[in-house]
Amino acid sequence: MKYSLEVKTSSRTQMLDITKDIEKIIKESEIKNGSCIVFIPHTTAAVTINENADPDVQKDFIKAINKIVPWDDDYLHMEGNSAAHLKASMIGFSEQLMVEKGRILLGTWQGIYFVEFDGPRNRKVWVSIFAYK
Ligand code: ZN
Repeated sequence: MKYSLEVKTSSRTQMLDITKDIEKIIKESEIKNGSCIVFIPHTTAAVTINENADPDVQKDFIKAINKIVPWDDDYLHMEGNSAAHLKASMIGFSEQLMVEKGRILLGTWQGIYFVEFDGPRNRKVWVSIFAYK
């Protein structure tokens, strides 16, 4: 079954912790043991897992990825957001997670992040949950 989550971003490049939103969807599904796919149905946003303890990790992530792929670099794409397309593919559009006893299995310091590369925008996150028999 596919679930959908609405995400509203407030700047061009941004990391939003969606761990609690994904956990809420899993709780609603009443699936206790299985796996879960988090998918981003956009071409200029991505999903990743990283540290959620120190917010400076997110700032450093954004700083570094903006250095690797600068916004302006004589790109050809007429929409003017080639950097966002590149960064989204580099980070990726899905994550697969394990679900046990109704909860996502994550490392102590891990959180699930929606990563905006061409905001601010209203975005969607799709979640599919599979139950083990
Ligand atoms: Zn574009």
